[in-house]
Amino acid sequence: MKLRRLFVIIIVLFLASSCQKAHIVLTDSSDTLFVRKIDHLPDDFIMGMDASSVISLEDSGVTFYDFDGNETDLFKILAENGINNIRIRIWNDPYDSEGNGYGGGNCDVDKALIIAKRANLYGMKVILDFHYSDFWADPSKQMAPKAWKGLSIEEKAEALYQYTLDSLKRFKQERIAVSMVQIGNETNGALAGENIWMNIIYHLMANASKAIREVYPKALIAVHFANPENKDAYLDYASKLAYYDLDYDVFASSYYPYWHGSLENLSDVLSQIADTYDKKVMVMETSYAYRPEDSDFHGNTISDESLVTKNYPYTIQGQCNAVLDVIDTIANKTSNGIGVCYWEGAWIAVGTDSYEENSLLWEEHGSGWASSYAKEYDPKDAGRYYGGSAVDNQAFFDEHGHVLESLKLFALCRNGNILPVRADAIEDVYLSVNLGDELVLPEQINAIMNDNSHQLVDAEWDANDVSQVVTDQTGEYLIKGNCDGMDAFCHVSIINFNYLQNPSFEEDEHGSRSPKGWIINDSGNANELYVEDKVTDSLDGSKHYHFWADSSHTICFDLEQKVDGLRSGNYLYQISIMGGDASDGNIYAYVKSNDEIIAKEELQITSYNVWDSSAIAFDHTETDALTVGIHVECNGVNNGAWGKIDQAILNYMGE
Ligand code: CA
Repeated sequence: MKLRRLFVIIIVLFLASSCQKAHIVLTDSSDTLFVRKIDHLPDDFIMGMDASSVISLEDSGVTFYDFDGNETDLFKILAENGINNIRIRIWNDPYDSEGNGYGGGNCDVDKALIIAKRANLYGMKVILDFHYSDFWADPSKQMAPKAWKGLSIEEKAEALYQYTLDSLKRFKQERIAVSMVQIGNETNGALAGENIWMNIIYHLMANASKAIREVYPKALIAVHFANPENKDAYLDYASKLAYYDLDYDVFASSYYPYWHGSLENLSDVLSQIADTYDKKVMVMETSYAYRPEDSDFHGNTISDESLVTKNYPYTIQGQCNAVLDVIDTIANKTSNGIGVCYWEGAWIAVGTDSYEENSLLWEEHGSGWASSYAKEYDPKDAGRYYGGSAVDNQAFFDEHGHVLESLKLFALCRNGNILPVRADAIEDVYLSVNLGDELVLPEQINAIMNDNSHQLVDAEWDANDVSQVVTDQTGEYLIKGNCDGMDAFCHVSIINFNYLQNPSFEEDEHGSRSPKGWIINDSGNANELYVEDKVTDSLDGSKHYHFWADSSHTICFDLEQKVDGLRSGNYLYQISIMGGDASDGNIYAYVKSNDEIIAKEELQITSYNVWDSSAIAFDHTETDALTVGIHVECNGVNNGAWGKIDQAILNYMGE
């Protein structure tokens, strides 16, 4: 009997193991994705993928398709494309008092076990990411699980130990291959509601570590932090871990290229920690957008409007190159770098028809980042802003579940997949043309190539679009073109160029008596004469030129600007002034040619915020010396004469 059972088990194990091998054929080429070879990649270099939301997505009706368009298990697709580890976040109890899930995949141990089995089936190991919270833990929040509320630190440490031990034993019982276990998620100074290092490390992390070593002695133990751009903080974390003598193996970091500093900084700080404390290091979370558009009616963290520095275009090739650079940095430029894990590369839309339909699915299955039920636990953030996926444009699958070519990078970077270099993204051109000038379109424009080099490529502009442009009146035009087979766009603005320098005094510091570009000739003795920074008293911008003289002083000055290099033609000069409490006023705008006034226009200061403006039209000859200015001469009554000068304009009006 016993023998027979043993025999059955052996057969099952044999089938299971042969199944794995039979199913996985690694991707070995791409017709469209340029993948440079990353040198010195050990076979066991971790190519990780966080896929914690997958069960809730499948429950919501999401299906995934391989490169042949066949509906396929997500984990099979990942394994075939070089992913060798699946990361899974674990929350203690992501459910409200009625049993409704908080969302974000409702990732508790039960869910993690389902994911882990699926991953193992296709030969991938798992990285378990204990948040030690009932919902998201990151630098902005590290809330303790509900069940641990009110515990002393010693009691909390014991609860954490027991929870870790019990959870891991369940994985062990299911024979889950675990490569690594994470103690907390992005624990920048807090964990499970504790925010002093002795509690975090000596009490909590140490007990987690103890439980991990007991159940999975061969698994690596990782700590995980975010914001490597803050190098001092990272070095501080590492020294605190050493001070409290934490037993761990891997110092892991998040690295989102938009926010987390340069790759050079990342390798510097991780290498320093690896070398100083003899630890392994890795990037535990990274991602990059393959397009700017959202697809599930819940706004994304990255879009065209994102004010972030882009070293890579938001394209499939750009996504590939961004991740390749992270892999190269960890593998070749960082001491003891063991791997890179992509964050939630399959968190796609649950539907593309409407917010309302998607919202029902997010609420029911927890397939959005948070459901409304999370408000009980996290009222300030999740309880307010719950919704769908904020990273659907950073996945390796489109909104219908079809795998993107970029996923191949993980398999192809080991040998490279070199293609002819071609443009992958064309930079839009913005062209300002002065009224009356000829429109000259660039013959070459900047492109980011598929190998991530930047090159100038030839542009061909649409002749019909070009013929629409009228250069003798202001206007905006979009001219389409073609560059290396891709669409190009030139945004043309025909503008009435202001030939004056510093025309609204915005370039000066408050209090400057001589504004940049201007000359002040003062023959009076005004009490105050300077650039003032006061938006409410400015006609344009936040600054203007200010004057004031009490009744025992007089105002008499010229403020003027010489303008060189103007072609012959008709011009219009404008300048504005407001003020009051003046007597014997003689105020005028003027134009000088060869130091002789050739045109002037009287101006008045009457009361606060009533601006008087000149409009002097004149002819200018290229060879003459041109000066424009304003003369202000008056005496003060009451509290004294005062005024503000702003918005000087000199436009070309034609021949
Ligand atoms: Ca979205």
